[in-house]
Formats: sequence, C-alpha cells, structure tokens
Amino acid sequence: MIVAIEEIGKSGLSRTEAIDAQALAAHLSEAGITEWRTTGDGVFEAVFDRLGNKVLMKARALVHLSTDCKRCLAPIPLELPFEFAVHFVSAASTSSAASPSAARGEPRLMADEIGTGASFDLSSADEELFDGRTIDTEELFREHLLLNLPMMGLVCSEGCKGLCSVCGEQLNERECGCDRKPMDPRWEALRAIKLDDPPKA
Ligand SMILES: [Zn+2]
Ligand SMILES: [Zn+2]
Repeated sequence: MIVAIEEIGKSGLSRTEAIDAQALAAHLSEAGITEWRTTGDGVFEAVFDRLGNKVLMKARALVHLSTDCKRCLAPIPLELPFEFAVHFVSAASTSSAASPSAARGEPRLMADEIGTGASFDLSSADEELFDGRTIDTEELFREHLLLNLPMMGLVCSEGCKGLCSVCGEQLNERECGCDRKPMDPRWEALRAIKLDDPPKA
C-alpha cells in the first residue's frame, strides 16, 4: 500500500487492500520460509493520522496459510490475523535526519494524545523514517507477517499418532500392526542365533 501524505485529511485516512496470494508467497520464500504456504488472498487495512510532522499508522492484516503437521504431515490451515502500529517520521523535518538511529532510538510516546481505543499498544509503536511525501507499507507488512508466523512445528491435534516409523502408514487412519519398538542393542547378538537349528545329537 502506498499512501501520499496529501491523501490523509483532518479526520485521517482509512484504506483497505487485498494482498495477492502470490505476493504473499513471495514474501515467505524471500524470507526463506518453506514450512508455510499461502492458501488465498489476504487483506490489509490501515488507518493513518497526521500528528504534526508524524503520521501514525494503525494496521491490521489477515492472511490465510497452511503448514504440515509435524507428526503426520497432514495440512493444517491457519487464519493468521496480526496488527501493528507505526509512527512515520519525516526525515526532512527532523534535526536528526542525518542520523536515522537517533530518530529511532527514543520513540516519543504519544499514546495519551491519540487516545487508545483499540488494542494497539502505541507505546511500543515503532518509528520509521519516511521522505515526508509518501508512505510505503510493504516492508512493514512483510516484517510483521514474519514476526507473527508460528515458528514452532504445529500438530493437527494433540492426539495425532503420526506416521509409522517402519512402513510410513498414516496411523490416525489405520494401525498397520508394525513392531515399532526400538530393539535393545544388547539383544542384537541373540537375534543372530538361529533358534531353529536342529539340535546336534
Ligand atoms: Zn497430525
Ligand atoms: Zn507400519
């Protein structure tokens, strides 16, 4: 989403945009994420307010993803909502423009001025420098998508039995009857002895 600063009126600006499934997939693959797939278009909504030389953006997104159960490899669909808030600070209007780290270092807390109705934690809103004319939300969307992705392997259900380690059968559907107990290595030598050898007379 690209917003020109003039579009943000006195009462703010509200914009909604579909996030194309392919674009979403590109965000994931560029970040080296292979365990999540996109299953459809997402949506990105943002509200912008001008506060002096800053712009506050409150954003919400919803994406549709799928991953594989870490035990049985069945697909697990996930609707992932996430939200974040960012203060865009015009680089041209700050004395610290030459030093972006200074501008980012001490975010001035403006939560009281804005009035926090929503669940946004504005005290933790990041500060981003921008050129004072246009705001591009793409990088921030991507960053927060990755931050919100569950990174631990998920299971399709707590009781998922997984796959048979011997034959690969999907054990949630059928018990194959394989002996999956690991063999105690101390018995290996005994197993080599043929018990059906005819006893010597
Ligand atoms: Zn499973
Ligand atoms: Zn089996």
